[in-house]
Amino acid sequence: MSQSTGHRPVVGRFAPSPTGRLHLGSLVAAVGSWLMAKRSGGSWLVRIEDLDTPRVVPGMAEDILRTLETLGLVWDGEVLRQSNRTHLYREALDRLTASGRAYQCGCSRSEIAQISSAPHGTSGELRYPGTCRDGLPPGKPPRAVRVRVDNELIRFNDCIMGEMSENLAETCGDFVLRRADGPFAYHLAVVVDDVLQGVNQVVRGADLLASTPRQIHLQRLLGYQPPDYCHVPLVTAPDGGKLSKRDAPVSLAEGVDIHSCGAVLIHSALTFLGQPIPPLLRRAPLREVLEWGVAHFDPLLVPRISAPFPEVALPY
Ligand code: GLU
Repeated sequence: MSQSTGHRPVVGRFAPSPTGRLHLGSLVAAVGSWLMAKRSGGSWLVRIEDLDTPRVVPGMAEDILRTLETLGLVWDGEVLRQSNRTHLYREALDRLTASGRAYQCGCSRSEIAQISSAPHGTSGELRYPGTCRDGLPPGKPPRAVRVRVDNELIRFNDCIMGEMSENLAETCGDFVLRRADGPFAYHLAVVVDDVLQGVNQVVRGADLLASTPRQIHLQRLLGYQPPDYCHVPLVTAPDGGKLSKRDAPVSLAEGVDIHSCGAVLIHSALTFLGQPIPPLLRRAPLREVLEWGVAHFDPLLVPRISAPFPEVALPY
């Protein structure tokens, strides 16, 4: 179960991967997490998740930060970058290895595909059949480090999506924490960073709902208190399909003057999130739109299903 933040001040965060400009989906996650933190007088951190180096696009972290600032989504404290923090992920991995929870695996993807007759996990990946659980077969070099999962239901109560549960042994099996000589996996880095930054509320896109049980599993093994989770619905393309990079860029489409469009975008993000913001506020200064959100944001009104972003009549 996720833990209630009770009377602790909320510490929320937005953790973009700098693989492109801020798009409409990440705008919604940023607005949702900022409002959920600010409505209760909490703080809001920004962390750049730049571990997956081949996908990182130079200059995008700065572009995202500038866009957030221009939209009035100002963060507290310094912006952390995961690429500077690998020693912390190594320490956590060493702890899991020392306790026998993490182990080396020598299987390639095609070997796993051949052996695994199981259905694919929720994120479409193959379920690991446990080949190297009891030690690397002779002559097989290690390719990755995996963590053991247990055959049990992991439950949590998402403040938007409701009661969720998953048995990791049935869906993904023992999952990868580090590829051989490669970067640490997102799941490991995110739980280490969230706990070290004191984050107790995670608001992010529903595409990460399927990641949450894995992260809760790691939090339990490492003795960390899970944050509260709120997964906001995904933005789809206008026809309901997957949003492509072309439909989405907030940062907005080239040539868009983000300064004059900020209020309209935040207004539309609030509408997308089910908040009854008065239409008149579309023409209000950005500060007023944000203030309305801080005063009125109600997570119980956020819809659970993906939808297109409201038509944005940008004043350009
Ligand atoms: N870096 C992830 C992304 O941009 C988000 C991770 C998270 O919020 O936990 O999709």
